[in-house]
Amino acid sequence: MSDSMIPAYDRTNVFARILRGELPCKKVYEDDFALAFHDIAPLAPIHVLVIPKGDYISQADFGAKAPPEMMVGFWRAVSKVARDLGLDTEGYRIVANHGPNGGQLVFHFHVHIFGGRTMSHAMGSMPSPDNAG
Ligand code: AMP
Repeated sequence: MSDSMIPAYDRTNVFARILRGELPCKKVYEDDFALAFHDIAPLAPIHVLVIPKGDYISQADFGAKAPPEMMVGFWRAVSKVARDLGLDTEGYRIVANHGPNGGQLVFHFHVHIFGGRTMSHAMGSMPSPDNAG
């Protein structure tokens, strides 16, 4: 897939607006690197999104452009959020959709944390409230 299939970072995207406090969210955690909040349409009993505090379109953009302290801070935040949600023992799934084939809808890099139920080992689709996917 060429880079031209990924739109440029749009500062009006919904997660950028949540970061700026222009839209509400059900906040779970915040630090210098990341903000975590409940997904508006949960696909599991626990479905939390973790987003970096920076203009990163996707996993590819984050991986290419984020400075090391941001990468470490962001991924530590993902781990902390899952731990604080009580998911470490029973387990959880993390997902980051990138681009059209990945099903990305919001073009501000984010990691989904799914927990609270058993999920199938089939990984070709997002978890669904109707099955154990
Ligand atoms: P995706 O870009 O496909 O990885 O998923 C975007 C996710 O953002 C979806 O799971 C949506 O339900 C979620 N979402 C969209 N708008 C909001 C919002 N205002 N607050 C919380 N979650 C949202």
